[in-house]
Amino acid sequence: MDREPERDAAARPRGGGRDERGPGDGASPAAESGAGGAVDGGGPDGRRARREAERGERRSAGVSRRALLTGAVLLGGAGAFGYSRREELDRWWWRYSGAAAPRVEGEVDHGGAEWIPASGANLRRASRPRDFGIDRVVVHMPEATYDVTLRVFQDPSHRASTHYVVRSEDGHVAQMVRELDVAYHAGNRAFNERSVGIEHEGWADQPEYLTEAMYRSSATLVAGICARHGIPVDRDHIVGHREVPEVVRVCPGSAWDWDRYIELVRSERDALG
Ligand SMILES: [Zn+2]
Repeated sequence: MDREPERDAAARPRGGGRDERGPGDGASPAAESGAGGAVDGGGPDGRRARREAERGERRSAGVSRRALLTGAVLLGGAGAFGYSRREELDRWWWRYSGAAAPRVEGEVDHGGAEWIPASGANLRRASRPRDFGIDRVVVHMPEATYDVTLRVFQDPSHRASTHYVVRSEDGHVAQMVRELDVAYHAGNRAFNERSVGIEHEGWADQPEYLTEAMYRSSATLVAGICARHGIPVDRDHIVGHREVPEVVRVCPGSAWDWDRYIELVRSERDALG
């Protein structure tokens, strides 16, 4: 996320100190998605998602998974086409049947992360990667402190969230949304569905927030995400928020050292084997 639009009162923490406010860097105040401020994503994604989920539930009433998959085989026949057709219908079933992948309260995807859940209003429950494949990691900088970022994503009125928040001074990681679920962080619905979002405490115009501890901890986190989901470690798949299509943002800012970061992720990924 980039900055806090003046009109978005929900994003503005009380107190107004430098630590709790965006710098006003002149970036576009809000993406078309309604994303903005000390928070990304959000907005219409949630409303659309709920409508879609409701429609999906109605459509899928009475359709068993077995019937669907049997149908897939009949439709597709043998061979590669049949397999992809089946896979496609399998995803469809996971999206619309109302089935949910098992989840354990408080369980985190990244070992060592602290579970600090975002408000349920700021995410869409899903069963990734069964319903939506994950092939991107989106790097953000919130223009806010770690604590303020957590508070904003816990606020149900904000309509935005992220999977992880990394603290500048020591690289501590909070997980706020399960990788199973869709966090509203990218300001682009298709990107939200396919990605994992990570906020890094700090401001784009204050490179002193980009500590060694934060880079290293984030690299370990991203190496694990890439390993879990089979995501290649490169700049096509690990992107900045500003690189998401149709998003006008500076996030994570020009000081972010991409070469060093990708190198760190690669060495962490190699260490995982
Ligand atoms: Zn961002």
